[in-house]
Amino acid sequence: MAVGAIRRTRFAPSPTGLLHLGHAYAALVASGAADRSEFLLRIEDIDLDRCRPEFETAIYQDLAWLDLEWPRPVMRQSDRMAAYRDALKRLAPLCYPCRCRRGDIRAALSAPQEGALPAGPDGLIYPGTCRGRAMSDAGPDDVIRLDAARAFAAIGIDRIGFRDEIILPDHDHVLTCAEFRAGIGDVILSRRGMGTSYHLAVVVDDAAQGITVVTRGKDLFDSTWIHVLLQRLLELPTPLYHHHRLIRDDAGKRLAKRDDARAIRMLRDEGATPQDIREMLGA
Ligand code: GLU
Repeated sequence: MAVGAIRRTRFAPSPTGLLHLGHAYAALVASGAADRSEFLLRIEDIDLDRCRPEFETAIYQDLAWLDLEWPRPVMRQSDRMAAYRDALKRLAPLCYPCRCRRGDIRAALSAPQEGALPAGPDGLIYPGTCRGRAMSDAGPDDVIRLDAARAFAAIGIDRIGFRDEIILPDHDHVLTCAEFRAGIGDVILSRRGMGTSYHLAVVVDDAAQGITVVTRGKDLFDSTWIHVLLQRLLELPTPLYHHHRLIRDDAGKRLAKRDDARAIRMLRDEGATPQDIREMLGA
């Protein structure tokens, strides 16, 4: 990266629980990676059933306690529905409505397949049952899926790629259209009753905020293929990626929001200092 180049990063938590050590690590990596430039905070609250205002307040308090600073006002995805609707409208010619529930998908995949069903970053690979349906036929209970084959054809490429400054930093990570179809499939761009999905919202917002380095856990590495494809389709820049290690508990399991014992505020209540947290995380 050129000397003085802008590095704008973000930490994008969902207010569905208290921040734990894994979040603290992600936030510290994001803020540390913005070395010459800006660290932004974004609240990812599209899942209105699971997000709670008290968890959003707790995010601000915990991050401030960790000595992090970010510009205000903070972008909140629940305020951005019009932007997601516009993006979905642009992608509509490459999409179809889908009424399949998990059980239907399982049944369709089990028929030709024995043993483990094919799965990707979003779970089971959709077998394409509804692929022939027109968008004009979309009902309120349908999700909207992106037809991966049509998407690649529309941009006239047979592979996508991105750079990661941590994982094989001297190489392009590349995925072909055939690999995308087999390993990821037709992903959901609009969830039932939501009007968007994590993938669509994150791509639209990273571009809107001018994020140049997307830092996040390695568990999202395979979702990045979806994001890069969406960036190409929406003619948005592909940022540099930085997929960092995951913080695990003593048994080696990834921390989840329900692990309240690891919540930042529990550790703080037990007398830990921000410096202790940084040391615990090696950050
Ligand atoms: N809201 C997502 C999460 O909490 C952020 C993922 C990302 O950084 O792209 O996992």
